[in-house]
Amino acid sequence: MSMLEMQLSSCSTVKLLEGITLEGRNLDQEMISCGSIEKATDKSNASFRSPFMTPPSRHDKTSDSIDTNGESSQLGSRQHKKALLELLDQVEDVICVEDQVSTDTGTASTSYEIKQNNKIGINSDAAEGSSVGSTEKAKTKPANVYFLVFEVSEKQFVGSNGSQRTLKVLRLLDEECGEERSVYLSDDWFYSVIAPGDTVHVIGDFSEEGICEVNRDKNFLIVHPDILVSGTRVAASFSCPRRTVLDERLKNNEQSSAALAGLIRESPTKEFLEEYARVLLQKNYESLFACGVYEGDIHRTMLEAIPRLLKWILLFRDSKSPSSCVDFGSNDGVKKVKVSEVIDIEEMAWAPKFGLKGVIDASMHVKVASKANQTTDYIMPLEFKTGKATNGQAAIEHSAQVMLYTLLMSERYKKNIDYGLLYYLHTDQTQGIAVRRSDLVGLIMRRNELASDLLKASTMQQLPPMLQVPNTCKGCRHLKACTVYHKAHGGSIEGSGLGDVYSSLVNHLTTAHCNFLKKWERLIDLEANELEVVRKEMWGSRSTNGSHSSTCLSSIVLDTSDQVPRNNFIQGNRFVYRFMRQDLNPSSSGKDLECSLKTGDYVILSTDPGRLVVGRGVIMDMTRINVTVSFSKRLRLPGSSPSKIIHDLCQEVWRIDKDEFTASFAMMRFNLIQMFLQDDRSSHLRSMIVDLNAPRYDGGCIFSQDPAVSYIWSEKTLNDDQRKAILKILTAKDYTLILGMPGTGKTSTMVHAVKALLMRGASILLTSYTNSAVDNLLIKLKSQSTEARENGMGVSLFCRLSEAHPQAISALQSQYRMSAPIMELSNALIYGNRLRCGSPDVANAKLVYTNSTSTSLWLKKVLDPLRQVIFINTDLLPGLEVKDCKTVNNPLEAYIVTEITDKLTCQGIRGEDIGVITPYNSQANLIKQYVSNSVEIHTIDKYQGRDKDCILVSFVRSSNNPKNCKSSLLGDWHRINVALTRAKKKLIMVGSQRTLSFVPILKLLIEKVEEGCSILNVNREDIDINNQHKGELKRCSQLRSL
Ligand code: SF4
Repeated sequence: MSMLEMQLSSCSTVKLLEGITLEGRNLDQEMISCGSIEKATDKSNASFRSPFMTPPSRHDKTSDSIDTNGESSQLGSRQHKKALLELLDQVEDVICVEDQVSTDTGTASTSYEIKQNNKIGINSDAAEGSSVGSTEKAKTKPANVYFLVFEVSEKQFVGSNGSQRTLKVLRLLDEECGEERSVYLSDDWFYSVIAPGDTVHVIGDFSEEGICEVNRDKNFLIVHPDILVSGTRVAASFSCPRRTVLDERLKNNEQSSAALAGLIRESPTKEFLEEYARVLLQKNYESLFACGVYEGDIHRTMLEAIPRLLKWILLFRDSKSPSSCVDFGSNDGVKKVKVSEVIDIEEMAWAPKFGLKGVIDASMHVKVASKANQTTDYIMPLEFKTGKATNGQAAIEHSAQVMLYTLLMSERYKKNIDYGLLYYLHTDQTQGIAVRRSDLVGLIMRRNELASDLLKASTMQQLPPMLQVPNTCKGCRHLKACTVYHKAHGGSIEGSGLGDVYSSLVNHLTTAHCNFLKKWERLIDLEANELEVVRKEMWGSRSTNGSHSSTCLSSIVLDTSDQVPRNNFIQGNRFVYRFMRQDLNPSSSGKDLECSLKTGDYVILSTDPGRLVVGRGVIMDMTRINVTVSFSKRLRLPGSSPSKIIHDLCQEVWRIDKDEFTASFAMMRFNLIQMFLQDDRSSHLRSMIVDLNAPRYDGGCIFSQDPAVSYIWSEKTLNDDQRKAILKILTAKDYTLILGMPGTGKTSTMVHAVKALLMRGASILLTSYTNSAVDNLLIKLKSQSTEARENGMGVSLFCRLSEAHPQAISALQSQYRMSAPIMELSNALIYGNRLRCGSPDVANAKLVYTNSTSTSLWLKKVLDPLRQVIFINTDLLPGLEVKDCKTVNNPLEAYIVTEITDKLTCQGIRGEDIGVITPYNSQANLIKQYVSNSVEIHTIDKYQGRDKDCILVSFVRSSNNPKNCKSSLLGDWHRINVALTRAKKKLIMVGSQRTLSFVPILKLLIEKVEEGCSILNVNREDIDINNQHKGELKRCSQLRSL
């Protein structure tokens, strides 16, 4: 056991379990009582001023724009008022409940005394801070309790010796239990920017009076802890906070030096590293393209770095070479260091406790020799710097980053981590970083300010003010975007501090441009904030323990059954792991894995409880009982020894959360701002998309000798609509809109268009939203944020342009998929009868049965090939929907679908030609249990782009209170249109006519089906529920009660 571990293990078990980290670090007295670890505490450096303190002047800053017209403060105060009103409601609720339940809850009330003239007299122990945070007095509290701030004031505070100090006092509410607490902020913390309505996390113990003092010597306050700010961003934000906010909002991806893979090997060869560099480069072509750098240059840089990297590994990693000396600064001096193990590279660490996250270049076990030649084992981060800047502001930022990584690792490894290493490739210099509390205070305060800045930007589109330092700004990567935002938000030339440079960058912008930018910024933020809510729930104290939400699977364990032998975790260059429900064994009847996660989803794996992020991966497969996830790295719990990696993983209970795509929003903002910059390309895009100038087309005569045109005229498989559409594409100078209705041959039209353009030697970028990641995002855009949709987020660029310039549209109207009766449904509901069948064969297509079997009357009617459309109404049967967790299914409809599918296959229709569609995942999962594997069963969203001879649609919703069904997925006409346009020869719908008629689009559908006399009412004589498949279908309580 290392010295440090011994020291820590001498602390109480309770402290260890609660996370020694900050309690250990922030209470110097605890460190001392646990023994010295050769680390100078700040007490010996009382006069030391950390370079990371935020000057008080910055707290008075005003940002551009909105502050100038007062909107922001109004909005801020509105939000606070709203929060306070909600808070008052909650407090009232709590009081009512407490009154009813117990009279012995007095400890929840404030016990400090507010004296006249606003002075607070408090227990002298607490006043002097000696026992604030004492674990003896502290109440037991769960980890990561977030408090709502409901009052911020400055109070005169009288100490036991009569001295007076001014403190900032926060009155807090623990939203979980309704208890009230207070935090006193002094020293630098006094300047913290906090307002009523904010959320905070306090790292420190509360006295019996419910008070915690946060000052220079002890405890920490984390403002907006839900916002996990990257350590790199915090470190980089000292020179210009506005630049850091723009980094986060416009880029969001942080590339790290993955070339460190060589560190994992004790003695990597030059060849190994060169090959690794090549693979790495290949994997990152897209990012390099986005950065505008040439891959050849980067490859050269990487190759040049390899000899130095090998030298470093030889010096520090090679067990045969002696330890190397590293300077850890004036307090700690030079120490001999040897890396004994590289635990992980690019370790993803999220620490909600500090509101921080980061990707650590390398996490290492390091042996450090003391002056007395005693060797101690430490865990520490290594940060690898490839840039040329190695001193001045850059050096301060680099050491800040390493210090923040020690915090992340302390939380992750449940150890006090006080040291880190920084390696500058350019100068081949290794520097030791020793962490001091005074530095951490400055860094956490900076993190708090940055979190507030990020929140303001996302809720009010308000950025920190411009720096007004021309030398810095002129070399800034965000200069163009920064000045455009400044102007859009009403900033002036004086406020920019850049004079003519500013004018030259923004003079082209009109008021309409500024409004467009502001409007869409806001809409993107509205959407992004919806996803943030999901992410916050994952970490916050409000998240549900041990239960499944729609975007997470909890209480699952690693499945190491025979089918997945332990040595089979590696597949290709991915690591594959299979999980199953914790309470599931072959004989149990545990619940299925049911949630909206599906194959292809990006997910985060964390321990449950504990929320320790262990990996990020992709779901490869999901069955009723298993979920298989692939990761780019081998899973390993922090601190797990190499020989016990799998063993330790098997001891854990896990949780899988959907990894939402916040990076996509940064991309959207980035693309949006590009349209407003001062250059030709931006100007052209702006004129088309923002100003809505008409698209331009070439005259026809120049095409007489164009091989592309000749090809299109000679291609016999194209119909007139398709030919016209492609010719329009060929003449377009700006854009053409092709409106392709279902089954009209959009894909083949595009294929011919691409061929024709290739004949001209054009370069072509093909893009689509069928990529599942983007699909998921679009689905969210459709269903999540009503406000964003109502304000125009739901209007596509296609729609905007087609409304402005109908002449730019070429419509494809001849469809080759659906028979006439099926086509008529969407013609009546959506397309205003503009859709037509491409040929008589298509119009008259019917199912042809090769076998004939005896069957009941109702099934005979359903299967009749002459009825190409049929709606089976279940209202005469007891078949109400069933809520299962947050999802909904309908066992009766599942049963009917199963019966019909069985009969269809008995009569000779191949399973591959049958499809089952339903709006709900839960229903699709239920049906999958009973229907042949060859039948494709999916949700509507997954059926986009597919078709089958026969489609069965199960609508699911059937309720005694049908009004509730109005806002369901069924109200979305896009979805309904997809469901109705997948069948070629027969469309069989199953649902409750009464319930569905409350949804306007479905009411129209049912009326249209009724016109064709194609409603079939089934009753108890048709379907004898008691005699049917019992088993799982009886999950429906309504069926059970019969
Ligand atoms: S241009 Fe100046 S004010 Fe704007 S982000 Fe860059 S450094 Fe900050």
